[in-house]
Amino acid sequence: MTIINKLINECDLSDIEFKELLESDIYDDELKSSADRVRQHYYGKDVYIRGLIEFSNYCKNNCFYCGIRAENKSCERYRLSKQEIYNCCDEGYKLGFRTFVLQGGEDLSYTDKDICKIVLNIKTAYPDCAVTLSIGERSKQSYIDYFNAGADRYLLRHETANEDHYKQLHPSSMSLKNRKRCLYDLKEIGYQVGSGFMVGSPFQTTECLIEDLRFLQSLKPDMIGIGPFISHKDTPFKDFKSGSFKLTLRLISILRLIFPKSLIPATTALGTIHPNGRELGLSCGANVVMPNLSPVSTRKKYELYDNKICTGEESAQCRGCLERRVNSVGYRIVTDRGDAKTLS
Ligand code: SAH
Repeated sequence: MTIINKLINECDLSDIEFKELLESDIYDDELKSSADRVRQHYYGKDVYIRGLIEFSNYCKNNCFYCGIRAENKSCERYRLSKQEIYNCCDEGYKLGFRTFVLQGGEDLSYTDKDICKIVLNIKTAYPDCAVTLSIGERSKQSYIDYFNAGADRYLLRHETANEDHYKQLHPSSMSLKNRKRCLYDLKEIGYQVGSGFMVGSPFQTTECLIEDLRFLQSLKPDMIGIGPFISHKDTPFKDFKSGSFKLTLRLISILRLIFPKSLIPATTALGTIHPNGRELGLSCGANVVMPNLSPVSTRKKYELYDNKICTGEESAQCRGCLERRVNSVGYRIVTDRGDAKTLS
């Protein structure tokens, strides 16, 4: 049995086999076609869309890789008001979005009460929509309150599952232990949880990536977001080179085969390092895209990494452009909440 057949049949490999797969390009074609077959078995040609609302770029944290880190004095900060957030949803709903993702830096000026109110108002206005939060590490009680207010999903990438590597990417005020605690709390509360990591972040080794896969196997998230690390000029990692495009695609395919029913986005970062990055991501097993619904006036300011794409277009233009891109590789966007198939 070939290594790929084993991965398809068992949804797992030994560490040595994963290493072989991750470090060689000879399996890439077979990986891609197998991942696409599995994806089509569960999801057909469907691609789910999520409207991303980047509502604040204030952040109390100082992740070494991130352009909106607190110590970046060149970052022009903004916050959307509640009304501005609702306007984004309104526009998004008309464009066919049935999931809104509220993402931001860790900005404590939005209290738990504020977040709950925003979630409740969106869910009341659009009962057929899912609300996803992506606002970082909070207490279990806060997560419970957001969930009770109606939040359906939560995105929190673990970033790296290796303790030493985590310390190389984050200041000592942050810990992998707390990140994992958050993820397990979110699962226990009942959220559909998304996690993930950057590919090619500084100091990452194949062994780190295998630990990432192992961690995801134990967490069993509904969504897995990965994208290449891309350096940002005003961060401590400004001189590191970006993650590999090929390795990111390879990992998308591997993830599809380990987690056949998972929701895997073709991320903006993937589209940033290659002009057809998102299309190729879809062909390699991804089944979600997350176009930007933020107001054009703030888009450029949510600069996690240099040269981020889609910062100039209006939401409607982004939606149209993406539709064409998705169609160009033979898939179709569906207007649907797009829950994972594992959930009924
Ligand atoms: N504050 C939220 C949202 C973070 S931004 C949270 O903590 O979850 C969303 C994701 O962007 C991060 O999880 C990280 O994986 C990714 N990201 C940040 N900086 C990046 C960079 N320089 N290159 C690629 N991805 C980056």
